[in-house]
Amino acid sequence: YIEFRKVSKVFGSLTVVDHLDLTINKGEFVSLLGPSGSGKTTLLMMLAGFEDPTAGDILLGGSVLNRTPPYKRNMGVVFQNYALFPHLSVAENIAFPLKRRGVAKAEIAERVNRVLEMVQLPDQSEKLPSQLSGGQQQRVALARTLVFEPNVVLMDEPLGALDKNLREQMQYDIRRLHRDLGLTIVFVTHDQSEALTMSDRIAVFNHGKIEQIGTPQDIYDRPNTHFVAEFIGETN
Ligand code: ATP
Repeated sequence: YIEFRKVSKVFGSLTVVDHLDLTINKGEFVSLLGPSGSGKTTLLMMLAGFEDPTAGDILLGGSVLNRTPPYKRNMGVVFQNYALFPHLSVAENIAFPLKRRGVAKAEIAERVNRVLEMVQLPDQSEKLPSQLSGGQQQRVALARTLVFEPNVVLMDEPLGALDKNLREQMQYDIRRLHRDLGLTIVFVTHDQSEALTMSDRIAVFNHGKIEQIGTPQDIYDRPNTHFVAEFIGETN
């Protein structure tokens, strides 16, 4: 469904993604796991269309995406720094991009309510972001992405700023949304236990290459390389 074919990204003399092949199936939850600087975010940015590959092709449903602008890819992106507008209410934050696209008022209201239920924030729509907890703010950011009804959601360390309890709750909720909405999710993390609990498959990154890809059980029980064994063995 999503396919990277010999994709590279070079910044100056630094090869950040190196002849990488990766196939992600429709409806799959795939984590990109690896140390800081191993190229995970860059791969995600190329898939979203915010960066162009230096070489290679990225395909979606069999078509080459390379020149497709981000807004035509039907992908949603959620970052750790979710940057809500502080002066707009929750509902207005979610409605903002829809308004700009000229969606009718009644439809906006309906879609906003629907996504707020999905992320389990039904009674918070009039609050300002500052009146919400970090976890609730992250739910608003997620709702703002889901309101476009993307097929694919790309997440870059979305839970990195949350404390342990909130993090675990959000992990559970994101899995539930993945299952209920049939989303394809590509999830960047450097947290081994997060990748192990959430993913259908994990791609372990090292210096712009995938060292190993497999189910959490494969990766945990049968690491192929010393690097994978050590990285998975580390506890946070
Ligand atoms: P992290 O978890 O820290 O985000 P990562 O695995 O996601 O790490 P990337 O963010 O993809 O790694 O970065 C890989 C390397 O590419 C880093 O050394 C980074 O400094 C470099 N890099 C990323 N973007 C650019 C850019 N626009 N120009 C130059 N170098 C860049």
